[in-house]
Amino acid sequence: MPETLSQSLSPAGAPSGSSVADNLAAVKDAMRRAIAHHGVDQPLPTVVAVSKRHPVERIVPLLDAGHRVFGENQVQEAQDKWPALKERFADVSLHLLGPLQSNKVADAVALFDVIESLDREKIARRLRDQMVAQGRKPRLFVQVNTGEEPQKSGVLPGDLADFIRLCREDLKLDIDGLMCIPPVEEDAAVHFAFLKELARRHGLARLSMGMSGDYPVAAAVGTDYVRVGTAIFGARPRA
Ligand SMILES: *Cc1c(COP(=O)(O)O)cnc(C)c1O
Repeated sequence: MPETLSQSLSPAGAPSGSSVADNLAAVKDAMRRAIAHHGVDQPLPTVVAVSKRHPVERIVPLLDAGHRVFGENQVQEAQDKWPALKERFADVSLHLLGPLQSNKVADAVALFDVIESLDREKIARRLRDQMVAQGRKPRLFVQVNTGEEPQKSGVLPGDLADFIRLCREDLKLDIDGLMCIPPVEEDAAVHFAFLKELARRHGLARLSMGMSGDYPVAAAVGTDYVRVGTAIFGARPRA
């Protein structure tokens, strides 16, 4: 039986003792190998370095090494860490990956450059209002619950067409792309291919998929962003 994408591609770990910059280089190498191994003509994805729960001292070395794209999953935590870093490193692009509460929308619009977790009408409406009020336009991704897991955020695939129509036509929001987090126990490649097909169907240009456990698979399927935390920064400290 031919091996599946997921079986053939094991991600790089984050060996303790290696620097975060070395770990990032290893992540990029693993993606290059995955793309070459499958003979697919995919561009190298941009790595969103997921720094959630890691202190500023862990983040600065990666900024010093020249990396500029980072992800956080809580607005409050990002507000504590990133305004000062953004002053020092002006060209940082900060992605919000976690669920957005309506009382945090104004702060999120003020701080983030990309919001990857849009999945509700109420939040879409507040985003529109805040983007107009602040004159800021973070790029928006719709999170899709490809595994239809009850506990997980994201628009259900069957509701996606209506949600995108609401965003585009009623709210005049530009949607950049789609994001997903596949169910842990399933073949990620199947979910990545599904997300890619949904994006194509809706005329969306970009994808965000792949985490420490499956980013080489996402790179081989083809994605604009992978969101990698543990493989770069090591295990997260407890919240
Ligand atoms: C934490 C998180 C990641 C990174 O997870 P790792 O397994 O540590 O790479 C990626 N995406 C989202 C939405 C996350 O919350």
